[in-house]
Amino acid sequence: MFRRWWFVRLLRDAGPEQRSPGRRLSKDQQELVLREWEVLRDRLTGFASERVAAAGDIFRAAELRLPPEEEAARRDYLWALEAYEAAGKLLDEASDLPDLTAAVVLAERAVERLAAAHAAHAGVRPGPPVVRCFYNPLHAPVPPTPTRSPKRERQRRRLGAREAAADRRPACTACRRAILAGQTPDVLPALLPAGAAGRKSPRVLVPYYAVPQQWSPWAATGCGAYDDRAPALVLRGEHRRRV
Ligand SMILES: [Zn+2]
Repeated sequence: MFRRWWFVRLLRDAGPEQRSPGRRLSKDQQELVLREWEVLRDRLTGFASERVAAAGDIFRAAELRLPPEEEAARRDYLWALEAYEAAGKLLDEASDLPDLTAAVVLAERAVERLAAAHAAHAGVRPGPPVVRCFYNPLHAPVPPTPTRSPKRERQRRRLGAREAAADRRPACTACRRAILAGQTPDVLPALLPAGAAGRKSPRVLVPYYAVPQQWSPWAATGCGAYDDRAPALVLRGEHRRRV
């Protein structure tokens, strides 16, 4: 969805003195940033609405009635319901791309956890959890790590800087390949609020994980992909900007 990380090019074109969010962009460049952001937001809103609606259909078709003694299944089921509700709330209240991404992530995680509840209820082992790409949680899932042989372990100890960087965060195949090639991965952007990078700083797009935590919880949680507390946080309204 964000294949061309166009704003990196835009900021680069602005010259080295204008690359950082705190520096000035011309009025035209700022308008271009906002227009492009609106296009991305509209596209992602449509996608998130589809994913949340699809999750709703699955929940209606796969409702569970669990007796109190099925504790594990009940725990999964309740978490799934909460995550689905949080996804709907995020969709309604979204103000930026990471909110919409979190709506998709929580809707999908809700369905995954619903499947785990069904598996527990049926006495079947659930499938392995889906690991999402840190750079953009909307990307394809992170492929499972192959079992490490002693030879591979020895090779790992001689990792170069790029391999170490690629191993630092869970990355999909495409993002990992980009990092290994010394390129910028296809990162999910966020609109940095005016003034967030210093007084009079313009609204610019930055990687979502570069937004300070007091402005957004999504950097720390991979848009809800890595933290089971995300649905409760959203339902309490604590995902909104705190400054
Ligand atoms: Zn990726």
